[in-house]
Formats: sequence, structure tokens, C-alpha cells
Amino acid sequence: MTRPLPGPLSAEVDRVARAERLLVASDFDGTMSAIVDDPAAARTLPETDAAIRALAELPQTVVAVVSGRSLAMLHQLTGLPPAVHLVGSHGMEFDESFAAGLDEADRDRLELLDRQATALAARFAGLQVERKPASIAMHYRHVAPEQRAAAVEAIATGPQLVDGAHVTTGKEVVEVAAVQTSKGYALDRLRAREHVDVVMFVGDDVTDEHAFAVLREGDLGVKVGSGPTAATQRVAGVADVAVLFETLVQLRRDYLSS
Ligand SMILES: [Mg+2]
Repeated sequence: MTRPLPGPLSAEVDRVARAERLLVASDFDGTMSAIVDDPAAARTLPETDAAIRALAELPQTVVAVVSGRSLAMLHQLTGLPPAVHLVGSHGMEFDESFAAGLDEADRDRLELLDRQATALAARFAGLQVERKPASIAMHYRHVAPEQRAAAVEAIATGPQLVDGAHVTTGKEVVEVAAVQTSKGYALDRLRAREHVDVVMFVGDDVTDEHAFAVLREGDLGVKVGSGPTAATQRVAGVADVAVLFETLVQLRRDYLSS
């Protein structure tokens, strides 16, 4: 290990490691993987990858990656075995085919959002439109700096105002969904489905706040990096996340074999 966890966090990890049935859930970008300029080049830190796989093999331990990425992309980027639950599109896509639940009005709304986003991409060079099963993400990282405010304004007065649409803003991305989901919804579903009594969630972005917000007494939320958060613990960056998961593996293994 590179550096030890701060004392209060170390005590909290030791506590959750003794849960009867534990759910360990993590965001992907900026948490398991460093943020990179090309979203397709994001890779899990090797130490984090090893720890996640080790956790998933322990009894009474459920592991999930909950991301804003599409489920297909998440599969491709993580390469994790089926023992790890992957949840994509901010809780819209579970490993079972959940997006099939869109009704006709939802599908019409998705088409309208897609048309509006495509029109904006034609207006603003560099605006990338990512179509997901139930939402449209508009990435403006590559829009010229002097055009960026106008692009954000056009999104705010266009797709964001579509009746029944649900907006999530992230780092240089606005995602507009045809139906409402969140990482909090995903955690609630996993908690119920897997009958766990303690949940630990780790994430870095504003969309992860939905997950921190549904944590209960006895759970553990760890925010990665700076910024306001509902999480009770914080680490500085992805290298510390690796140490966090490595520590949890050791403590959980010790607990389960004692
Ligand atoms: Mg993230």
C-alpha cells in the first residue's frame, strides 16, 4: 500500500467490513479510473481492479459498479466478471434488460430529445451526442471555449425543457433522460434485491450525490476529491480509492475467516 487511510475512515472501513451481508458499490470514472481526455480510453487502476475482483469472490459480499456510462460501454471498459453487478446510465440499465420498460410516450420523448440534440451538434462544433437506452448525453468538453456558454444555454432552453424530461448535469456533460432514474434509485434497488444490511458507496461526481443521499445509518459514503457532498468520508483521488478497496478486502477477509 502506498499510504494509509486517515484514522476516521480506517475505523469506518473496519466497521463495514464486519457487516453480515455487505454491498460495495462504486462509481467508475474519476473513482475506479482516472479522468482522461478520451472517454473511451478510461481504464480501472490495476490495484482497484484486483481489489474489486477479490471482493466479489468473498462470501456475503455483493459488488456493483454504478456509472453514468451505458451498460455496454461499462462492460467493455471494465472487463469485470459477471460476479460484479454492472449498472449503467445512472441506474437505468441493470445487467437484466431493464430499459425494455420504456412505454410509447417515453420512446417518443427519447426520439424528440435525440432530434434536438442532433440539431445542436450541427450548430456547435465539438458537441458530442451520446445516445443511451433511455437518455441523451451531450458532452461539451470539445466545444471551443468561446462557444461553450452558448452551447450550454442552447441545451438549457432546448432539450432540457422537453416535457417529462429529467436533467442530470456532470463534468462538461448534460444528460437528459426520457424517464427518471438516478444512482440513488440504483442503490435502493440493489439493496432490496441483494438483501444486504450495510451499503458502502464511493463516487466523485455530482450525480453520485443521489447515491450518497439514500445511504442510511450504518452505511458508508466516501466522496472522492473536493466539492460539497452528503458523504461522511472523503479521499483525495483514485490512488486513495485503490487503498480504500485494498484495505476493505483485507479486513473483510479477516472478518469472514475469524
Ligand atoms: Mg465519476
